[in-house]
Amino acid sequence: MTSLFERLRAIVGAEACLTRSDELFVYECDGLTLDPVRPSAVVLPRSTEEVARVVRVCSEAGRSFVPRGAGTGLSGGAHPVEGSIVIECSRMNRILEVCPEDRIAVVQPGVVNAELSRAVRTHGLFYAPDPSSQQACTIGGNVAENSGGPHTLKYGTTTNHVLALEMVLADGSVMRLGDASGFAPGYDLVGAAVGSEGTIGIVTEATVRLTPIPESVETLLVIFPDVVSACTAVGGIIRSGLVPAALEILDRRTIAAVEASVYAAGLPREAGAVLIAELDGPACALRAQVDRVTALAREAGASEVRVAHDEAERAQFWKARKGAFGAMGRLAPDLYVHDAVVPRARLPEILARVCEIGDRYGLMLSNVFHAGDGNLHPNISFDRRDPSQLERVMAAGAEILETCVAAGGVVTGEHGVGTEKRDFIGLVFGEADLAAMLRVRDAFDPRKTFE
Ligand SMILES: Cc1cc2nc3c(=O)[nH]c(=O)nc-3n(C[C@H](O)[C@H](O)[C@H](O)COP(=O)(O)OP(=O)(O)OC[C@H]3O[C@@H](n4cnc5c(N)ncnc54)[C@H](O)[C@@H]3O)c2cc1C
Repeated sequence: MTSLFERLRAIVGAEACLTRSDELFVYECDGLTLDPVRPSAVVLPRSTEEVARVVRVCSEAGRSFVPRGAGTGLSGGAHPVEGSIVIECSRMNRILEVCPEDRIAVVQPGVVNAELSRAVRTHGLFYAPDPSSQQACTIGGNVAENSGGPHTLKYGTTTNHVLALEMVLADGSVMRLGDASGFAPGYDLVGAAVGSEGTIGIVTEATVRLTPIPESVETLLVIFPDVVSACTAVGGIIRSGLVPAALEILDRRTIAAVEASVYAAGLPREAGAVLIAELDGPACALRAQVDRVTALAREAGASEVRVAHDEAERAQFWKARKGAFGAMGRLAPDLYVHDAVVPRARLPEILARVCEIGDRYGLMLSNVFHAGDGNLHPNISFDRRDPSQLERVMAAGAEILETCVAAGGVVTGEHGVGTEKRDFIGLVFGEADLAAMLRVRDAFDPRKTFE
């Protein structure tokens, strides 16, 4: 009988079916490096048809499989389980169609997020969801995680930008959800698929909304004595009725890490926190908005407000923000990136609590987060070779999540549940909620073949 690997090679080609131990090593985990598991094989299909055939062969062989994009996920969503096959979509990286009149693009799942915006720029358009990992992560991964980013505050998360999907189900059948017009009748199955973390099907094509590049952008770097006053400023700005494109906070430790790294942007090392506030829209409206944000920030205790003079300075501010996780990689061998949401009104109080928890467990905790969305990222730098450190990291993480939920928040804003937060999902959902979700999953994958 032809072996499973031979059958997979016959579909995708020998070079696109990895089975050697050294090749598989890379696929043991995603950005969550705890608890790695080596898969049996990794296949890299190029088309919907190849994905469907691979899935059929795996199903017939009784093997579970896990879809994967760029592997930048931070919740273990692309982690294999023992014996599973990883189906990596990175070779399905073509932009199939751009229609500026309808402001849509049709893309394969392996298209890198930032590449899409670069490709449609000549039409005066961009793809709005912008995870900080956008230079590497893929649209397929973004759809699966319902990814957000700094500009989610004004433009919404991935779910607000996906109109239609093509998906391969566990039995190898190909299904189309939604419609490019955005007016598909019936159940909103695109809504169910976005954020399903690769548990109901493999996205093989996505029709996404494109957004006009705003006429004008103003980016402010606001300097605060501490992170709590920066959070207070965010509350004031939101309460004022302004809708900034982004409100991002970096705390003192994050500033120090960034300034010691290749992402250094001239942030003031003595500051307790900085707020990057971005406003976009018609040029004639922005001057007044900049003045209003400046006044509100000063009211909350800001010591200085720098307005980017040009595109180069604006890019510099964003380089600091988007490079922050990378910069933290220099602080210790390991980094645990947490993700939780709290009501914005509770930000000052919860940030103070999060810092207290980090201190109490004797951990190096830094915060860089989507403050406008109330989406926290407490990051813990540690060394897993010391078991006591890992134990404290996990205990502190649990306490942070419990604190956020008790404040009316949720256990993940954008990184997903994955393997990381399975044990915490009960903090936000009851048995009946979870049972209903499982029934939705069963409708697509009754044999639970997707991991
Ligand atoms: C430095 C850094 C910064 C980050 N910043 C942000 C941020 O600002 N906002 C944010 O939301 N996230 C952020 N992330 C997390 C991560 O980049 C996102 O979750 C991203 O969407 C994952 O995309 P990926 O292509 O790497 O997917 P992977 O990590 O490969 O997979 C993620 C999930 O998607 C599933 N999947 C992948 N492809 C498919 C497909 N074709 N069909 C069905 N399921 C699929 C996988 O099974 C898995 O469950 C960051 C990560 C890093 C490392």
